[in-house]
Amino acid sequence: MKPLVLYRVDLRTADPASALRRIDPASPLLTGTDLAATRGDGVFETVVVVDGVPQAVEAHLDRFERSASLLELPSPDRSLWRTAVETVAAEMDVPRGAVKYILSRGDEVTGEPTGWALGFAPTHHRSATPPELDVVLLDRGYRSDVATTAPWLLQGAKTLSYAVNMAALREAHRRGANDVIFVSSDGYILEGPNSTVIARIDGEYVTPPVEFGILPGTTQSDAFDALTDGGDRVAVRGLTVSDLSGADALWLCSSTRGAAPVRSLDGVAQQVDRAITQRISDFLNARKA
Ligand code: PLP
Repeated sequence: MKPLVLYRVDLRTADPASALRRIDPASPLLTGTDLAATRGDGVFETVVVVDGVPQAVEAHLDRFERSASLLELPSPDRSLWRTAVETVAAEMDVPRGAVKYILSRGDEVTGEPTGWALGFAPTHHRSATPPELDVVLLDRGYRSDVATTAPWLLQGAKTLSYAVNMAALREAHRRGANDVIFVSSDGYILEGPNSTVIARIDGEYVTPPVEFGILPGTTQSDAFDALTDGGDRVAVRGLTVSDLSGADALWLCSSTRGAAPVRSLDGVAQQVDRAITQRISDFLNARKA
């Protein structure tokens, strides 16, 4: 990634004029005792910015609030964070970038939460056309009821602890692929390390339920709007590995890449529906907020 614009978000005030301070993106930001750095204890969101317009802002704020609540962090001030995202987005001079905004439990010594918002240009997937993916299925090691039976595992929260997700992507690369779909220990399809699954089965577009301990995907949700606008059927329900093998097309949806079609699953070629992919991309890229 290429960092472009960085704002510190001072959480002691809700007034954007005094809370938001632009700093050099190369300058130090955190103390050595910030729990974001020492324990990955915080939450974040990444919003795509197309021609200066941050997209799905309210859906990202909803998920930010949900993640903060799951971690028992102070509830984020929506208006402050919205202003932070819009301010950073407006100051980024790239056709397609992203804003990552972070709420940390804060400095362990002072007990003050910390926040910042970083505008950056992704070095991969900069184009408006999503990449075609080679995907492997990997066991996540949790049952599909983990969110209710073991909520302290924080499945379904977008926390800063992404080391496991990054390790899964390295495992995919070792296997000659470039992305992952996690499977629950009881055999249900979950999500990617940074994406939501959509499978087309018998003409219906299906995504797994968030009750399985996965993130509510903002891109998947908007992709479903694109599909229903075009008269297609969509559904949220559990999918097994064999359901996925029987799907006639698959996508992994995420803010920075959009709806990326899967061209192979565990080494087996998958049909790529470029016409539908284009229709979803056009819809996503035309979002106004
Ligand atoms: N699931 C996980 C684990 C993610 O990290 C992400 C995004 O990074 C998604 C799903 C997709 O979410 P969105 O489409 O809102 O970017």
